[in-house]
Amino acid sequence: MPMRIRTRFAPSPTGFIHLGNLRSALYPWAFARSKGGDFILRIEDTDQERSSLEAVEVILEGMHWLEMDPDEGPIYQMQHMDRYREVLKQMLADGSAYYCYMSEDELNRLRDEQMANKQKPRYNGFWRPESGKTLPTPPKDVNPVIRFKNPIGGSVIWNDAVKGMIEISNEELDDLIIARPDGTPTYNFCVVVDDLDMKITHVIRGDDHVNNTPRQINIMKSLGGTPPVYAHLPTVLDESGEKMSKRNGALSVRDYQKKGYLPEAILNYLARLGWSHGDVEIFSKDQFIGWFDLEHLGRSPAQHNPEKLLWLNHHYIQNGDPKRLAQLCKPFADQQSINIAQGPNFEAVVALLKDRANTLLEIVEGAKLFYQDRPQLSSQQIQENIPENIRPAITEFREALKTQEAQSKEQVGALLKTILTQHNLKMPALAMPIRYALFATTQTPALDAVIAVLGKEEVIERLAKIG
Ligand code: GLU
Repeated sequence: MPMRIRTRFAPSPTGFIHLGNLRSALYPWAFARSKGGDFILRIEDTDQERSSLEAVEVILEGMHWLEMDPDEGPIYQMQHMDRYREVLKQMLADGSAYYCYMSEDELNRLRDEQMANKQKPRYNGFWRPESGKTLPTPPKDVNPVIRFKNPIGGSVIWNDAVKGMIEISNEELDDLIIARPDGTPTYNFCVVVDDLDMKITHVIRGDDHVNNTPRQINIMKSLGGTPPVYAHLPTVLDESGEKMSKRNGALSVRDYQKKGYLPEAILNYLARLGWSHGDVEIFSKDQFIGWFDLEHLGRSPAQHNPEKLLWLNHHYIQNGDPKRLAQLCKPFADQQSINIAQGPNFEAVVALLKDRANTLLEIVEGAKLFYQDRPQLSSQQIQENIPENIRPAITEFREALKTQEAQSKEQVGALLKTILTQHNLKMPALAMPIRYALFATTQTPALDAVIAVLGKEEVIERLAKIG
């Protein structure tokens, strides 16, 4: 039977996820989906001081928004404490881990000495049991840590799916602390136990974890496990070439939601941020899943390009179904206190505005025009913006509206054209004053479309004010 592919996203819930973090979820998700496997969400919350439930919410919300819901999880590491303790006990018993009583002070002294001798600071194996070695009696006043008995000699080799062959000599690795003096297990140890217990076959994660990998592989092997395939993704850089981070001003996923980005645009954008399928830039979620593979992951850092994201968002808005877009725009309209119940059909307004909008927020900004009160133009405003010589044409247009069909922009366009010909006018000469009469501004989308959306009764009302 072929091995069932199991991947995981293992964020630490510290309150903020930016696009780079989300990409670390996207690829394992896509890989599991493309192989008919399982995608697991594991919350690495053992750093209790920095972790919060609210941060977990943010992660879940972001993943749900992009429709990357896990098949299993969220699974919390804090709920595995008993299991970690059990494995620690087993390792102490089988000799792959040992108690180390070196105090904080002694460790510091050791480090200072090594630094003074220009050596790399590392634990010297003082409490490491070896055959034929007699260990001193443990001091009573020191709570011991537990250290992993790292193999001596040889090296750790893995074929990273992104970075290729990596070999780290065991000489580089000292005996890692896997439980603190208070007995709590440490990060690298918990990751290994979980990856093993969860039967993870592919660890796809940020390359800031490359250094942890040889240690994790050693621990995993000592537990009798087979290391998974590792794929370490290069960093995502921000616009200025810095590592993307909150500190450098990266936006959180929620910010993109609030600005009116569509999830499919974000997904498409993130998919391309470090992976490619030829030079195809626009693809659906299903295409992405169909095409995704580890072979085409980029090897160099990807750089965030906000303009490209905006361009993709525009693409998806322009091609979006007005009904769905209108649904998505409603909360934005509420936030801006736009009462879409009073005024033209919202879906029609959205359909009119979507071609030019980059974000949902821009659609809603544009929609305001249609839901404002009728303009109350002063006689001075009328005088300045609606030239006397155009008024007969406007009046005639208003009269024509009363008797003619004007539901579609084509019908309105035909009416306008007739008036233009009769009065020997060019479109702007008539369109600008009409726009002003309708909205007290000349900044509106195409007049024929605007009139069709506003509805002829309303247009007749508004034009009557300047008659
Ligand atoms: N919790 C780690 C992080 O947020 C990820 C660990 C892993 O993927 O192995 O960076």
